[in-house]
Amino acid sequence: MTLLDRWGPGNALASSGGRTRAIRAVYGADRIYSEMVKRAFELWAALPATAAEPLYVESGVLWMHRGDDAYVRASAPILHDLGFAIDELAQDEAARRYPQIDFRGVRSVWLERKAGALYAHRACAAVRDLFVQAGGRYRTATATPGRIEHGTMKSLRSGDGSRIEADVFVFACGPWLGQLFPDVIGDRVRPTRQEIYYFATPKGSEAYKLSNLPIWLDFGKRIVYGIPDPDGRSFKVADDTRGETIDPTTQDRTPRSEGIERARQFLAERFPELATAPLASAEVCQYENSPDGNLIIDQHPEARNVWILGGGSGHGFKLSPVVGEMAAGAILEGKRPPEGFRLARLAGATARKTQFD
Ligand SMILES: Cc1cc2nc3c(=O)[nH]c(=O)nc-3n(C[C@H](O)[C@H](O)[C@H](O)COP(=O)(O)OP(=O)(O)OC[C@H]3O[C@@H](n4cnc5c(N)ncnc54)[C@H](O)[C@@H]3O)c2cc1C
Repeated sequence: MTLLDRWGPGNALASSGGRTRAIRAVYGADRIYSEMVKRAFELWAALPATAAEPLYVESGVLWMHRGDDAYVRASAPILHDLGFAIDELAQDEAARRYPQIDFRGVRSVWLERKAGALYAHRACAAVRDLFVQAGGRYRTATATPGRIEHGTMKSLRSGDGSRIEADVFVFACGPWLGQLFPDVIGDRVRPTRQEIYYFATPKGSEAYKLSNLPIWLDFGKRIVYGIPDPDGRSFKVADDTRGETIDPTTQDRTPRSEGIERARQFLAERFPELATAPLASAEVCQYENSPDGNLIIDQHPEARNVWILGGGSGHGFKLSPVVGEMAAGAILEGKRPPEGFRLARLAGATARKTQFD
């Protein structure tokens, strides 16, 4: 088995390249995702991690709504059924527990208890290491799909011009899938520019560490969210609104002043102590959006031995071990991936949805 990655696991251009990603089971009425998260927790826990270098830190997720909270409310019975705890908090209780937050304008607050932060880049490296320990060969190299003849792909070309032959090829190339398969994927996986800001926290303060403040989402006109740093190094703020369509290889990764200013205004309102916090660093990343926000796990329509995985659409990281498990089940045991993740649904798709629609 050979694994090729163009720039290496969790590299700075990849969608998985950030420091942390949230794992939570609230998924509106989409039970399949809550079930996948339940399984994902088991699979994440099976990866080797140490106390000094954890892959997961539990914190809970705080859902704040300025208007309709139907998304969380629809999930609550599913979570109860699957054994996940979720509580609606009264305003005064929320304010007492989290004095860092000004809840003005918030109409409902929910706390999802079994949820937290995954160390994204670190987890990608851990998976590569496990693959090598299990006897796989890893190379940092670009893969170019080979010709499809008589319903199969015999080989692919790697960056140094050599050919790699295999019985099965799996392409899990995130926002690059459309470039690799222009006919089958093309702009059906649309990479959009997303900026993440890290603000410095007050000197000596422990209040903005993940152990003292859960991951939070603020549902207003925009959805703004943050994952407090497990080590309290800085305070992450991001806006879930889809940015412009970009090329993930060449996009300008300099953060823009208007985005930083918007984040500051948000902080002044919701986390007033951080209103003038200096920007410590930023990441410019991309979502790889499928038209309906759902994953893609399917065979290439013209090559039975080629599998395409992706379409994480801003929420795929937590699910990645289950995507791997579903793909392995399909390839090795002939299990059918869920219908909603198949390519046929994308034919002629024009709807633009996100996970929260
Ligand atoms: C800002 C931001 C916040 C997010 N927050 C969350 C969150 O809180 N929770 C969550 O669950 N998800 C979140 N996501 C979504 C999640 O991170 C992505 O859906 C997921 O990481 C995508 O993983 P991937 O492996 O499909 O793509 P990628 O991580 O982009 O990996 C694709 C890999 O393919 C390689 N590659 C590309 N082309 C080739 C080629 N030709 N040959 C060989 N290798 C190639 C690249 O080098 C790269 O390593 C977020 C995404 C972003 C950008």
